Parts: sequence; C-alpha cells; structure tokens
Amino acid sequence: MTERTFSIIKPDATRRNLTGKVNAVIEDAGLRIVAQRRIKMTEAQAKKFYEVHAERPFYGELVEFMTSAPVVVQVLEGENAVARYREVMGATNPAQAADGTIRKLYAESVGENSVHGSDSIENAKIEIAQFFTDADIVG
Ligand code: GDP
Repeated sequence: MTERTFSIIKPDATRRNLTGKVNAVIEDAGLRIVAQRRIKMTEAQAKKFYEVHAERPFYGELVEFMTSAPVVVQVLEGENAVARYREVMGATNPAQAADGTIRKLYAESVGENSVHGSDSIENAKIEIAQFFTDADIVG
C-alpha cells in the first residue's frame, strides 16, 4: 500500500552537510521525497513534537538538540513507507543499527542520531500536519 511518512534530518546531520547523503539513502531505498523544507525548529515546536517523551530524563536535552541547528523536515512516499523508512533509518542507538542504515552510516550517538521517522501511519499524519499543509505535498 502506498503510504506517507514524516522524516526529519536532525541537527547533527545538517551540521555535517549530510543532507544530500541522507537523501541518497532514502531515494535508493525506493522512497520518494514529496515535500521538503529546511527550518530552524523553535523550542515550542520541538517540545510539542516530542511531547510523548516529556517525562523521560532526556527530554530537555532532546529539545535543546533539535533546536541547536537547522533541520530538514520531509514527507516520504512509497510502498509501506512508515515501516520501510524505520528499516532504512536503523535502530535508535547507532551501535545497534544494521549495516547500510542511515544511523549506522552517519549517527553520532543515541541522542544525536541523524534522522527521525514516524512509528505509525496515525502518528505520520499528525506529524506531517505539524509542518506541512496539503498544498506543500506534491506526490
Ligand atoms: P526513534 O523512534 O528511533 O527516534 O526513538 P525514540 O522514539 O525512542 O526516541 C526519540 C528520540 O529521542 C531518539 O531518536 C533520540 O534522538 C532521543 N533519545 C532516545 N533515547 C535517548 C537517550 O537515552 N538519550 C538521549 N539524549 N536522547 C535519546
């Protein structure tokens, strides 16, 4: 089934000029980038985006990291895009990520792990709506 998922290329990756390299892995995996924008996340945006983690000990650090440099927010489209992108990203902790995944290739640590991808179709819809309107997405 053709689906859409939400992706973020995180500050550790934009800082190292890896946007193109990350996008190459995404496209080589058969996912199409149907919307993309480079932004500096505000503290309010980052807090809202990660509010499910508000009680976790790393929440403050995570919000600080996500607002520390530009990010690239994206909508990806393809067959089973949500699960496919999770596969392409690799495990949260790069030490546990499989070979060839974005996090194995580029992530620096469990916190500074280069990319975000939605974990369900429902969350993908919510996350996409936080950053894009329908008119921004050209499939
Ligand atoms: P994901 O779905 O693979 O991104 O992982 P989670 O939903 O569990 O965590 C969300 C994000 O929080 C991760 O991608 C990391 O950037 C950050 N994070 C998770 N665990 C830790 C941690 O132990 N320490 C820090 N600093 N950040 C973490």
